[in-house]
Amino acid sequence: MKRLETIVTLAQAPTDVEFTCPYCESNISEDFEDFLDDQGLSWSDFPDWEYDPIKCPFCENEIEVSYEFD
Ligand SMILES: [Zn+2]
Repeated sequence: MKRLETIVTLAQAPTDVEFTCPYCESNISEDFEDFLDDQGLSWSDFPDWEYDPIKCPFCENEIEVSYEFD
């Protein structure tokens, strides 16, 4: 029997994140794992993240956020 073929797409986990705080205008760039720890997020809950504000590590204001992949 002839073998059929398929394509396996590997999803790449993020390694770091970048955002600008709209309050103090700091540019934040940090390791993805540190970002999850700091924000109390877990990768497995990803689709729910958009409903949780994040906190600026500099001025500590809460920021509404949406996510995009680079
Ligand atoms: Zn800030």
